[in-house]
Amino acid sequence: MNSSQLASADIATLSRLRIGLGIDSHRLQGGGPLRLGGITIESDLEMIGHSDADVLLHAITDSICSAAMLPDIGELFPDNAAENKGRDSADFLVHAVQLARRGGYEIINLDCVVRMERPKLAPHKTAIRQRIASLLEISPEQIGLKAKTGEKTGDIGNSRLAEAYCTALMYRK
Ligand code: MG
Repeated sequence: MNSSQLASADIATLSRLRIGLGIDSHRLQGGGPLRLGGITIESDLEMIGHSDADVLLHAITDSICSAAMLPDIGELFPDNAAENKGRDSADFLVHAVQLARRGGYEIINLDCVVRMERPKLAPHKTAIRQRIASLLEISPEQIGLKAKTGEKTGDIGNSRLAEAYCTALMYRK
């Protein structure tokens, strides 16, 4: 194989890689507990939404949909549909990854960021990564998770809003 053939082979392989970006936000209100990353966290805050408002699972679901060329979460699971009211967002995530796999896509890794002032997520990161890995049937080592505050500024810093971001790297077989 000469160098130009090698380059073509590399490009053919690399073209099977796809990146997807998912972003979501939900308002916070007093109450609790908090649903985040598929687990329940003791807190005096909860997220507001049509489903269980799990901002992190929504961002991950959209990142997978995007990488796998699927409709987005709002198209797959409309937030005005009665069957999605109060729904466990794990259902959305599992359905999305099943559709992606049917299309020949596998997850290489996910990288996630959650932005909220409190509660602190450090004590819960391992449980969240394990839960997401279990839902997606991948290893926790394929999931990066970072928590950032809003530096006590703006809607995030004053605990009125939570945001989540996820990039998914996927491989098309
Ligand atoms: Mg959402």
